[in-house]
Amino acid sequence: MQGQTLSLNLSHPESANRPRVVIVGAGFGGMAAARALRGNAAEVTLIDQTNHHLFQPLLYQVATAALSPSDIATANRVLMRGGSNLSVLMAEVTGVDIRARSVLLRDGHRLPYDYLVLATGSASSFFGQDNWREHTLVLKTIEDALAIRARLLEAFERAEQSTDDAEIRRLLTFAIVGGGPTGVELAGTISELARATLARDFSRIDPRDTRVVLCEAGGRLLSGFDPALSTYATEALTSMGVEVRIGTAVEAIDPTGVVLGSERIDTGAVLWCAGTEARPAAEWLGIDGVATGL
Ligand SMILES: Cc1cc2nc3c(=O)[nH]c(=O)nc-3n(C[C@H](O)[C@H](O)[C@H](O)COP(=O)(O)OP(=O)(O)OC[C@H]3O[C@@H](n4cnc5c(N)ncnc54)[C@H](O)[C@@H]3O)c2cc1C
Repeated sequence: MQGQTLSLNLSHPESANRPRVVIVGAGFGGMAAARALRGNAAEVTLIDQTNHHLFQPLLYQVATAALSPSDIATANRVLMRGGSNLSVLMAEVTGVDIRARSVLLRDGHRLPYDYLVLATGSASSFFGQDNWREHTLVLKTIEDALAIRARLLEAFERAEQSTDDAEIRRLLTFAIVGGGPTGVELAGTISELARATLARDFSRIDPRDTRVVLCEAGGRLLSGFDPALSTYATEALTSMGVEVRIGTAVEAIDPTGVVLGSERIDTGAVLWCAGTEARPAAEWLGIDGVATGL
């Protein structure tokens, strides 16, 4: 692919003679790399498709209305302040031309590099069931968190207006697929939202009737952690009213519910916390990523 070479305004007088380092991704990895190169004899460009660095571990609190987006997102330009050899570029990378040593941008431009750091993070994976994507909500970005927040709060409002008991039950039932840290955190905070924060805010429905079903296909919650923590999390969530289903795989997901094992559950929302895969940075290089030691 041909494209016009993007010329950034490099402020340092020696910039033309310095190696150009392009870093793609302003998450923890890319941001750490950029900051480590601050003040070095290199021209560093940090590219991200968003204008902010995101503290993903607290996304679940934005999703459940406990925090605002600005509490967990900081402008990349603010974090890169004070580095005369550092530039920030908001752009989506679509590929890498290894031979020409250029990064390809969505808008058709290309950016040359001498050294390239790819730190594009991960995306949600549906284990080949890509049709489930459209019926579920995921949690990776601020937009995802706000979509979950809107769906949760709207479900309570719609339930309040409904006179159909089955529909109210459906709206106030939330299924969470995947018992890793994100699923566990979301299950606990949605339960808290319903049973504490919103408990007295509605007149026709009782938010405490909300059902939160957390299903995990494996043998325990938090399988990457010590078994004692799995037991603790299961007991804590159960005491908060969460229905924890262990060893239960999702068989189907559609716009109004899920099939867990042999049971169908009508839901107001299905939150997908089950799978993660690398973004396609390895494909840009024409290699297999982890398998080839990228
Ligand atoms: C909900 C959630 C909770 C988490 N909780 C914890 C926790 O409690 N503890 C913990 O240790 N870890 C936690 N993690 C994992 C942790 O956040 C990640 O391991 C970490 O963010 C990975 O950093 P990274 O720099 O590799 O990628 P990311 O932080 O994902 O950053 C990747 C960056 O690349 C950008 N990007 C991607 N593709 C492109 C492209 N084509 N063009 C331009 N830019 C692009 C993205 O916009 C993003 O800014 C959590 C993750 C999530 C999603």
